[in-house]
Amino acid sequence: MLIQKRDNSQKNQLFIIATPIGNAEDISNLALKTIGECDFIICEDSRVSYKLLNKYNIKKPIEILNNFNEKKAINNILEKITKVKSVVLISDAGCPLINDPGYLLIRECIEKHIYIECISINCAYLNAAILSGFPTNKINFHGFISKKAEEQYNEIMLLETKTNHSFYITPHIILKFLKNMIDKDLKNLNIMVARELTKNFQTLYWGSILELYEYFEKNPQEIKGEFVIVFYLKEPIVSFDILEVNKLYNALKKLYNDKEIIKIISNILNIKKSIVYQLIKGKKE
Ligand code: SAM
Repeated sequence: MLIQKRDNSQKNQLFIIATPIGNAEDISNLALKTIGECDFIICEDSRVSYKLLNKYNIKKPIEILNNFNEKKAINNILEKITKVKSVVLISDAGCPLINDPGYLLIRECIEKHIYIECISINCAYLNAAILSGFPTNKINFHGFISKKAEEQYNEIMLLETKTNHSFYITPHIILKFLKNMIDKDLKNLNIMVARELTKNFQTLYWGSILELYEYFEKNPQEIKGEFVIVFYLKEPIVSFDILEVNKLYNALKKLYNDKEIIKIISNILNIKKSIVYQLIKGKKE
C-alpha cells in the first residue's frame, strides 16, 4: 500500500500542468507561477513549448519526454527530479497524459515517493463534453477513434447508453467515419462535433450523423484543424445482451482458447465474430 499526503517541504515535487488547448491566454496564474518557479520543465517538443514560455517570459531548462523516448528518458528525468525542488510536466497542448505521454513517469513517481500534484487541468474532451448539450453525469473518454472501418463500428456499437462519450478524431478520417456510420445504419444518431476549441475558428456542430456528413461534404474547408466527436446513446445500438456474452466467456475460458471461444459465442448468440472479439478484448484490458 502507498499513501501520499500534501507536501509543503518543497522537495522533489512534480506538478502536472495543462497548457492551453487553443487560446494562449487560457492559462491560470497558479500554472504560470508554478512553471516560473520550477527547476526544469518536462515537455514533448521544445519548439512548441518555447512559444508559450516566450509569451510569458519564462526561461527554464527543458527535458524532453515524448512518445518516442518515454521509456528511455524516464530514468534520467527521475534522477534529476530527485535532485531539485520542483519540476513541471506539460504537453504541447492541453493536459499531459490525455492522449499524451506522462503515464510511465507518474507511475514511477508514485513508486519513488515523489510528490505529485495536478494544476489547472484542462483538456479538449472535457470542453467538448461540456459543450455537447448531452447529459454529463457520466462521462467516458475513448482516445482517438480507430482508423479502421470495422473497428470504428464496433467501438460505437458497444458504447454504454446514457453516458457522454468523447473521441478524438483526425480531420482526414472524419468524412470517411461519418460515411461508415451511415453505411452501418446509424445515420439518425445525434452527435456533436467540436472543432478548434477555444481557437479563432472554434465551431460546434450538432445534428444527426447524416446531417453532419452532408454539411462537411459541402463545406470541405471546415474539415481542418482539431476535432472531438461526442456521442450519447439513449437506446443501445445492438440488441444482444452483453451480460450473456460475459457469462458464456466466463464459462468457456477454462476449456477453450480465445479463438475457439469467439467462434462458439458467435454461433450461439448469432453475433459477428469481430464483435465478440471486441467484447473479449475489452474484458482483458
Ligand atoms: N492532451 C490533449 C488534451 O488534453 O486534450 C490531447 C492531445 S491529442 C495528441 C490531440 C487531439 O486532441 C487532437 O487531434 C484533437 O482530437 C484533440 N484536440 C486538442 N485540442 C483541441 C482543440 N482545441 N479543439 C478540438 N480538439 C482538440
